[in-house]
Amino acid sequence: MRPLIAGNWKMHGTLREAASLAEGVRAGAGGLPADLLVCPPVLHIPAVAAALGGGAVALGAQDCHAAAKGAHTGDISAAMLRDAGATHVILGHSERRADHGESDAVVRAKVAAALGAGLVPVVCVGETEAQRLAGEADSVVRAQLAESLPDGFGGIIAYEPVWAIGTGRTPTEADIAAIHATIRESLVARFGAAGQGMRILYGGSMKPGNARAILALPNVDGGLVGGASLVAADFLAIAAAAA
Ligand code: PEP
Repeated sequence: MRPLIAGNWKMHGTLREAASLAEGVRAGAGGLPADLLVCPPVLHIPAVAAALGGGAVALGAQDCHAAAKGAHTGDISAAMLRDAGATHVILGHSERRADHGESDAVVRAKVAAALGAGLVPVVCVGETEAQRLAGEADSVVRAQLAESLPDGFGGIIAYEPVWAIGTGRTPTEADIAAIHATIRESLVARFGAAGQGMRILYGGSMKPGNARAILALPNVDGGLVGGASLVAADFLAIAAAAA
């Protein structure tokens, strides 16, 4: 399956910087061995859409509300994202689970809303360091998948160990391969052949220097990249490493 390298820009940058980063990604996107997706702050989506010019780089958001519309001050619906030019949305990122108390049930409702609006959800799962040290990584991820994905799910999974995000630390290659195999097995058990075709991204301190080894692992179908996605050359180097 063709890999996907997705950039999560989180809460960084000005409007001008977002447009310039998007232009940099677009300029280098030709001929890479991976599909590309960038997920800017929601306010920057129209400017990034214009900068990407409808080309090969896909555009996503970092969250959406579960409701289609209504009295939800400060929130954004999946349909609004679609209307603004997004095709994807990251859901259940550990920073949202931690900062906003998002439970698996909330994530599941958001995933259903995204699918209903025609967006491709990128659903994040991953254990904390305490859970890994307690030998619970597998069971935590299995439970998150079971509870965060609605029936009929179609989309992308991102395995992001919480302790690897923004820390410069990554699991061993064997640990990444093992948990990606667990995720694949869960997806196939629940969704059959469709689960075999779902991309499973690795996220957590992926950089140009470690991307090639991680992306070569079985069941690693791309990466969700935070910090390194804020520099176009680094993001593109990660995508080039997917060869
Ligand atoms: C992320 O938060 O999705 C992420 C992977 O961040 P970083 O690459 O900075 O660890």
